Amino acid sequence: MRVLIVEDEKEIADGITGILKDEGYVIDAVYDGEEGLSYILSGVYDLILLDVMLPGISGFDIVKKVRSEGIDTQVIMLTAKSQIEDKIQGLDLGADDYLTKPFDAGELLARIRARIRNTTDIKGNILSTYDIELDASTFRLKQGARAIKLSKTEYQLLECLMVNKGQILPRDTIITKVWGVDDSGDYNSLEVYISFLRKKLKFMKRIGFLFKTVGNIRC
Ligand code: CA
Repeated sequence: MRVLIVEDEKEIADGITGILKDEGYVIDAVYDGEEGLSYILSGVYDLILLDVMLPGISGFDIVKKVRSEGIDTQVIMLTAKSQIEDKIQGLDLGADDYLTKPFDAGELLARIRARIRNTTDIKGNILSTYDIELDASTFRLKQGARAIKLSKTEYQLLECLMVNKGQILPRDTIITKVWGVDDSGDYNSLEVYISFLRKKLKFMKRIGFLFKTVGNIRC
């Protein structure tokens, strides 16, 4: 899962980044509103943690703009104030949930799992498709009694394919979701990791979940 943090208080952004990385999430963090908006408009994130009071453009204005562009990514607003008006305004503008700062790690993780569960078949840390299960906390792929450990990149790629099963995704979209927006991934890396996953899925005898890779990728 790829999560974007838009938060101008760098210590808070760093703290959240550490907590979520430990849980296997892939994190990008930006520290002002304009940059946050442009990252969100890339459409590659599974969830956004969005501060309200930001330099440049406020979190409220960002969520309004994002929804008007038809992007339905889950958004949890982070607010320093506990005023009920702030919460209502955020939800009215299209945010999915809010957290009042300061919050603890357990509450943050529970809220994120609850939002992601709304969009995929995830139970706790387990994502399942057909009869295979992918564990976000251990990067293990399981089918019945068989289990195999994936590398972090293999995990991110397979998770992306499982969450989007049945859809056809452009290669560039998958590369951005797995390797991020800083262009560290390319078509060659994608081919290499697709072939790693094919071998592991063959070992699991999950021939039914061997995605097609002609042109775009059918998940
Ligand atoms: Ca702030």
